Amino acid sequence: MSTATQTNVDSFRTETRDWLEANCPQSMRTPVKDFKDYFWGGVNPTFHSEDQKIWFERMKDKGWTVPRWPTELGGAGLSKVEYKVLKEEMDKLGCRTPLFSFGIHMLGPALLGFGNDEQKMKHLPAIAKGEVWWCQGYSEPGAGSDLANIQTSAEDKGDHYLVNGQKVWTSYADYADKIFCLVRTDKNAPKHSGISFLLIDMKAEGVSTRPIKLISGSSPFCETFFDNVKVPKENLVGVENEGWTIAKYLLTHERSMIGNVAKMDKTLDEYAVESIGLEGDLLADPVNRIKTAQWLIDEAAFNFTLERAMDEAKAGTPPGAKSSFFKYYGTEMNKRRFELMMSTGGFDNLVWGEEYDEGKTPRDFCRTKANSIEGGTSEVQLNIISKHILGLPKK
Ligand SMILES: Cc1cc2nc3c(=O)[nH]c(=O)nc-3n(C[C@H](O)[C@H](O)[C@H](O)COP(=O)(O)OP(=O)(O)OC[C@H]3O[C@@H](n4cnc5c(N)ncnc54)[C@H](O)[C@@H]3O)c2cc1C
Repeated sequence: MSTATQTNVDSFRTETRDWLEANCPQSMRTPVKDFKDYFWGGVNPTFHSEDQKIWFERMKDKGWTVPRWPTELGGAGLSKVEYKVLKEEMDKLGCRTPLFSFGIHMLGPALLGFGNDEQKMKHLPAIAKGEVWWCQGYSEPGAGSDLANIQTSAEDKGDHYLVNGQKVWTSYADYADKIFCLVRTDKNAPKHSGISFLLIDMKAEGVSTRPIKLISGSSPFCETFFDNVKVPKENLVGVENEGWTIAKYLLTHERSMIGNVAKMDKTLDEYAVESIGLEGDLLADPVNRIKTAQWLIDEAAFNFTLERAMDEAKAGTPPGAKSSFFKYYGTEMNKRRFELMMSTGGFDNLVWGEEYDEGKTPRDFCRTKANSIEGGTSEVQLNIISKHILGLPKK
């Protein structure tokens, strides 16, 4: 890097740090505990605190809800280096993501890659400004791991498609304003070839949702039904019957998002020391000591590998099938972290009562099990890794 470029990066870092320090409310610098700690956007947005609103508005005005998107699409047009600096400085202060949405992490990249100009101008600024809540209509009762088996149909009716079918596990469909969907537009084509990528308004006549209640007590996802839903032709993204390419591209972004091992308010060793105590300088339980140390080593190695992949992406090599590796390892590591926390926490972690932080740790422990299912299961990621990265024979 030239001296002039380094000077620019240094001054960007200083400005960013100062701005974050001055503009990020203290309560937005604490770790996210649950769904409510994120602002999800939407036509009728819900802010869970005044600070959440202030933080979102300020970041939105700077284009920092989607820092890398072009300014005309609501972003800040940051370079990869500037984006990395922004992320590092936000991490140092513990700043929360100001807007969390499937629009940013899934649909946005797909539209940037495959949408036409009208679709980009219509949808991307609205996503950046948190004006629309998007949900994902991929899975169906007979199409999870075998996603290309989707049966929801979109029949060509001239100026519109007529959509019929059912999706399942649609996260937050009951809150969402719109859904990006995989639909079958050619029933006679081989299964990967007859799929299209369609944008559907959740308020359209014939769309309904039914929340599914989980073991954790919450209902984060729904069954979604389409009963003779008319969808304008302009809502087709990319080419009819070639939606599978978009579907896979979007999944690489989804998997990268899920594979991130979130930072918590305490590191695993701090948690273990608090729960078990020390014997001299060492964690009192030798078995747990080894497992905790191993997890921390694995976490460091994982973060270095992620960093390397990000540098490769900067040099123009997209992650592609490697996103399956990060998804697999990140989610399995997160499960291992919570298993350790459950075993170090002892009796306190078996209680779901209010005096025990409403059972936060056991609930989070249960939730980690879903990490290695959502966005494609661990087994499916291993299949992709063996085929596309290791080049192993299929059978
Ligand atoms: C928290 C959560 C949120 C979700 N949100 C959404 C959402 O918003 N939108 C959406 O569309 N979907 C969503 N999903 C659905 C998710 O994508 C599917 O659950 C996932 O793809 C697995 O599909 P399935 O549940 O049908 O399991 P199945 O495909 O039936 O798999 C069952 C088991 O068989 C194994 N298996 C299947 N095929 C193979 C194979 N070829 N080789 C080895 N093992 C195999 C799987 O690994 C798994 O263990 C969500 C899921 C979860 C858990």
